[in-house]
Amino acid sequence: MAIHFEADAGRTGGQVGLLSWPAADAGSSQEHRVLLCVSCRVAIRPDDGIRLHFWRTHRLEGEALGQIVDYSHAAEPIANPYTVPLPADGSPHIEQLPVVDGFSCSDCRFLTTSPKLIKVHRSRAGHAQVTGGRGSNGGWSEVRLQTLSLGSHARYWAVEQGPARTASPGVSGPTSASSQYI
Ligand SMILES: [Zn+2]
Ligand SMILES: [Zn+2]
Repeated sequence: MAIHFEADAGRTGGQVGLLSWPAADAGSSQEHRVLLCVSCRVAIRPDDGIRLHFWRTHRLEGEALGQIVDYSHAAEPIANPYTVPLPADGSPHIEQLPVVDGFSCSDCRFLTTSPKLIKVHRSRAGHAQVTGGRGSNGGWSEVRLQTLSLGSHARYWAVEQGPARTASPGVSGPTSASSQYI
């Protein structure tokens, strides 16, 4: 099962869409699903989070806001992007979310966008010192990361290391009502 993005079929003027991906436990037909703000390229917390985001950030109210809230209710269950299990490392990158450069620890699943934090992590975690050879830059490798949320709620997964790069955050995504597999 692939990661799948479904635009809103015109019901909210292309402002939101649903991103879904399979749950990690094999054999499960379950999937995780979050609501994306297409222009901000972030996932939005359900219920009050949706109201607050579109009211505060996009100044929507009345019917326009109601359409998005209705859409989200019809799409239930929607997960909280702050706590939902993330797509697997090595997944193809998701076009609707920004890709950022980051670092992956060679000895555990620690991922960060900060060159300072990867060094702090290496020493705090007590990983063996790396001298030359594997991860000759100190026990980590450079990777490309995606996240559902920004700021203090950012949690990263590493995406396929392809040459393709998505545009920087803030660029509007597709507004077509089509559904595409990525
Ligand atoms: Zn937004
Ligand atoms: Zn580590």
